[in-house]
Amino acid sequence: MTSKQWTAPFRYAGRAIKQFFDGDAAVKKIELPGEKKVQWARNLPYFAMHAACLLVFLVGFSWIALGVCVALYFLRMFAITGFFHRYFSHKTFKTSRAFQFVMAVWGMTAIQRGPLWWAAHHRHHHRHSDEHLDLHSPKQRGMLWSHMFWFTNEAAFGTNQKAVHDLAKFSELRFVNRFDSLVYIAFGVAVFGLGIGLDALFPALGTSGWQIFVWGFFVSTVLTYHGTYTINSLSHKFGNQRYKTGDDSRNNFWLALLTLGEGWHNNHHHYQSSVKQGFYWYEIDITYYLLKAMSWTGLIWDLRGVPEKKLMSNRNDQGSLSSDEQLAASRAEGFAAPRKKSGAASTLGKKANDAKDKLGETAGNLGRKATGTA
Ligand SMILES: [Zn+2]
Ligand SMILES: [Zn+2]
Repeated sequence: MTSKQWTAPFRYAGRAIKQFFDGDAAVKKIELPGEKKVQWARNLPYFAMHAACLLVFLVGFSWIALGVCVALYFLRMFAITGFFHRYFSHKTFKTSRAFQFVMAVWGMTAIQRGPLWWAAHHRHHHRHSDEHLDLHSPKQRGMLWSHMFWFTNEAAFGTNQKAVHDLAKFSELRFVNRFDSLVYIAFGVAVFGLGIGLDALFPALGTSGWQIFVWGFFVSTVLTYHGTYTINSLSHKFGNQRYKTGDDSRNNFWLALLTLGEGWHNNHHHYQSSVKQGFYWYEIDITYYLLKAMSWTGLIWDLRGVPEKKLMSNRNDQGSLSSDEQLAASRAEGFAAPRKKSGAASTLGKKANDAKDKLGETAGNLGRKATGTA
């Protein structure tokens, strides 16, 4: 055995540890989509997170531990859908630089890498939905890989900064995206501290630091993982296709409940710039309701809705709307978020107005010529 062979496992492990602490640590330039090959060492924390859920048998159950688990699922799922998806990936509303940073860190407590990495991969998904280059298409790579393994290969590790140049210009976002593990560690310590605090202040709850840590950090995070992943896997397979999007995206009521609104995925693939993914009032979209409420506080603004034209275009059910749906469509307009015209739309509008003015001028001149006035 050569010394190079001897040291290979140590170098492999060393690189994995380095990459855990430094998200920009060198990764060979690999052609996407890359091989369907799991990098086990680098992803050890991810698999350990799953295994650690078994610790519930050691720490036991309490209602408060379950409550913390559910609350943290809710808070972090909201951050993934409202911030990582609807803000960082699609810019469906505006905010201040300070709150943008809060949204980045809040979203990172879900332990799904940094906002630049997340948004870059997500934009890539929309560019190549269900085509060969789509890293998590169940059609291309199978259900299980698209659900929970697509990010474990070497090709998916790096952040494509070019795909997120609008975000990468902020140094604080680049910093947290690179040193993401700092947020995970801080979040873990905070959850443990919460357990110690609850135990000390309310002993009647019958919990402990370790119990809250296992339920709030491990179990809740794994549930948030798999809730999020259903949108890459199941919602490209099960449900209805209201719009002809050219991919396999679906609308699915159950997934919308589980993911606070993300299950209206066919709607979303049809029109990505809308802050709401449930296009009609009966399409429950909790993330949208919360973002709307947040806009009343002034933390975020300019929420973009769905233009009426988009709502009705390219439908599979064109012309066959039931009376209920028509009623829903008109009611939903009342719920629509205030929106600004998109750049293209306002340019078109301006051109139309200019043309109208010119026509008016010509008509006026003609009229003046005819009557002999100047
Ligand atoms: Zn999207
Ligand atoms: Zn999709």
